[in-house]
Amino acid sequence: MKYAVLDRGDELSRQLTAQLHQLAAERGLIHDNQEPEIVVSIGGDGTMLQAFQQYKHRLDSLGFVGIHTGHLGFYADWKADEIKELVEAMCEQHDEEAHPRRVEYPLIELTITYENGEEETHIALNEFTIKSIDTTIVAQIDINDELFEMFRGDGICISTPSGSTAYNKSLGGAMIHPTIAAIQLAEIASINNRVFRTLGSPIVLPKHHHFDIYSRKKQRLLLTIDHVNRPIENLHAVRCRVADQNVSFVRYRPFPFWNRVREAFLGYGDQT
Ligand code: NAP
Ligand code: MN
Repeated sequence: MKYAVLDRGDELSRQLTAQLHQLAAERGLIHDNQEPEIVVSIGGDGTMLQAFQQYKHRLDSLGFVGIHTGHLGFYADWKADEIKELVEAMCEQHDEEAHPRRVEYPLIELTITYENGEEETHIALNEFTIKSIDTTIVAQIDINDELFEMFRGDGICISTPSGSTAYNKSLGGAMIHPTIAAIQLAEIASINNRVFRTLGSPIVLPKHHHFDIYSRKKQRLLLTIDHVNRPIENLHAVRCRVADQNVSFVRYRPFPFWNRVREAFLGYGDQT
């Protein structure tokens, strides 16, 4: 079994990486950063976002697993002192009887079109946001090629179900169970008046529906895809939809989404 590790770079995470390599070598697992079957992220949820963006071209052939070295994460749900157990579980990976469980989570596919007609496609694990750099943004939002609303305000956040507990939550969006293939739009401080009128509630679209967000003035925008920011001045539009491809997480033991929500936000539960 081939694996790769990505850590946050702090002392504890680096120590754990060294420990993981040692335990893995003892058990005959092969360290392979190019073609891993399992990618272990050690750090926080932010570290998993980095691991995802690094290996997004190989989503069909690998599964992710996360160890947290700070607080419990949504993607990073193994504890540092469970590393031995995790390596044991990774060894059983290819044992047919052990049938490691993989859970598949939906992703967002976004297509950015520039004023000159050029196009780029990206994929996000948590969310895509479009925000203002200097003034409020002006954007037209269409749903399935029909005008839905004119948006004016600080920005727009489109999240995946697993990203619904991240930025989306701070914006008053709903928590969506990741078995639901959907994307959610949440507004960031919309201005409502006679000219600009938005729904004001988060909107959830199913698979095969899409949002188009058109830039409706000359404006400097900040686009974010998960943890990566990029300023952009010549945006024409962005199309967002549920991606055809999913991401797999290796589940060696059950840890239901609602338990993670409860433990992360309400602070009680049977695991930390
Ligand atoms: P960060 O500033 O460290 O992340 C902010 C927080 O979001 C961290 O506590 C991070 O956990 C947590 N987080 C990330 N993904 C999550 C998820 N799916 N569910 C629940 N919490 C999650 O920056 P980062 O670590 O590079 O993460 C980037 C993410 O930060 C973005 O994708 C966005 O969701 C989030 N963010 C949130 C806000 C906000 O709530 N106002 C604003 C900007 C960005 P860790 O500490 O474990 O990394
Ligand atoms: Mn972080």
